[in-house]
Amino acid sequence: MRKALTDERRRPRPPAEDPSFRALAAAATDPIVTADSAGVITYVNPAMERAFGYAAPELLGRPLTLLMPERFREAHGRGLARYLETGEPRVIGSTVELAALRRDGTEFPVELSLGSWVEGAAVGFVGILRDVTERARMRDELLRQTTLLDAVLTSVEEGVIAADPAGNFLVWNSAAERIVGRGPADVSPNKWQEHFGVFRDDGVTPYPADELPLARAIRGEAVDEDVQYIVRPAPHDGAWVSVTGRPLIDGEGRHIGGVVTLEDVTEKRFGQQEIRRLSDELRQQLERLEEANAELKAFSYTVAHDLRAPLRAIQGFAQALREDHIEHLDEEALDYTSRMSAAAARMDRLIQDLLEYSRLTQSELELAPVELDRAVSDALEQVDARIRESGAALDIPSGLPVAIAHERTLVQVFANLLANGLTFVAEGVRPSLRVSHEGGNGTVRVWVEDDGIGISAEHQERIFRVFERLHGTESYPGTGIGLAIVRKAMERMGGRAGVESTVAQGSRFWIELAAAEGPE
Ligand code: ADP
Repeated sequence: MRKALTDERRRPRPPAEDPSFRALAAAATDPIVTADSAGVITYVNPAMERAFGYAAPELLGRPLTLLMPERFREAHGRGLARYLETGEPRVIGSTVELAALRRDGTEFPVELSLGSWVEGAAVGFVGILRDVTERARMRDELLRQTTLLDAVLTSVEEGVIAADPAGNFLVWNSAAERIVGRGPADVSPNKWQEHFGVFRDDGVTPYPADELPLARAIRGEAVDEDVQYIVRPAPHDGAWVSVTGRPLIDGEGRHIGGVVTLEDVTEKRFGQQEIRRLSDELRQQLERLEEANAELKAFSYTVAHDLRAPLRAIQGFAQALREDHIEHLDEEALDYTSRMSAAAARMDRLIQDLLEYSRLTQSELELAPVELDRAVSDALEQVDARIRESGAALDIPSGLPVAIAHERTLVQVFANLLANGLTFVAEGVRPSLRVSHEGGNGTVRVWVEDDGIGISAEHQERIFRVFERLHGTESYPGTGIGLAIVRKAMERMGGRAGVESTVAQGSRFWIELAAAEGPE
């Protein structure tokens, strides 16, 4: 550099006045500019005019800063001053990349090579520029692509591992790290099995090194869905992994290695085993249930026919005793016969209720439109004697809608609800029953309300189960099956049943059914 300066010094004229320089500069496709020591432009070549959109006369005598964006101007001034003062070049003789400013205010990236010479006491500069827009664009594009590829590899669920033909890992995404339990390591392919703990899907046979999917993919083979077991470092124990492999081919069709994708199928594998086990268990349970159901059917038949007959005999003999042998019976004996009759009657009721319940659980109910008015009045007839006995007050509207139900079963439901309303009142209180309805959304809800003893919140669900009673038979009669029949019947008719109640204030039982088409 120093030597070049000394050589320049001997030159009598500035280069722009030298015809050979001008011929050279005019022929150059890169923009060339010269300036004096004050940074004032002394020459621009035609390529410079084209690149910046200026005619040469517009630039001659103007400062170099005209050609650069505002933000570079101050640094340029400082650099120029420092060079002139110290003779120490910073950018002279080297190439820097910066932004250039066109006449129309647009910027473009340039690579600038700067030289200088000394003319007497004065210093001259020459700059050769190269428009590197395309290069910058490609660099940006490359960066974008790399970032994108990185984001894709990080986001996918599958592990992706790629290696070059020598077995050096090129890609090892975060899912691969999670599935394998390790990151890439600098180990040769014949040590992969050992290092990464890869086994056949039996979990114990070491995977032969040359059959590993990645090794095969590197050799140019396609590998589909090979399941292998990978022992993972503590605290993990291992994972079954489904691996797919393909040779890695670049844009020009060159074979540059292999790539595999990994899917952790451990849960799926266990899931399938578990599903198989559960469905076996379920099948067995179903068989047992069917058996039990058949037994239950036979049992209810026995109950109906065999149990009720001797019961009737007991009732008959008790009655015969009372009617035909009254003269031989003292008061105590008479009391015993009537207790026998009452107990037999109660048992008969229990058997009938149980039979009704089992009929509901077993037979298919044919549903049809049922006039609720009629169902309620039929039910009232069933409990008529109780109504008279208790002197109950009734508030039963007419004009209830038509609902989809099984008539006989629905009558039974209403009868059970009404009977309960008549029964569960405080001692000496006259029962009072109200029926009402509401509709909407294709359903009908019927309320059966009483002013009775009520049911505390914790028992309101329990009473719908078989044999659940809140009182002893000595305070209130009953079998504990009535509401179980209501709930089961409603379910079998595609409806629901429930209760709202406050202790000592009364209960509001409701049933809900699909409304029949037509007038409500
Ligand atoms: P049962 O009436 O034969 O005892 P249910 O299944 O009909 O059997 O009723 C179960 C229990 O729910 C009854 O024993 C009673 O304690 C309670 N219960 C039913 N209806 C009413 C009601 N309207 N008011 C208060 N308690 C009731």
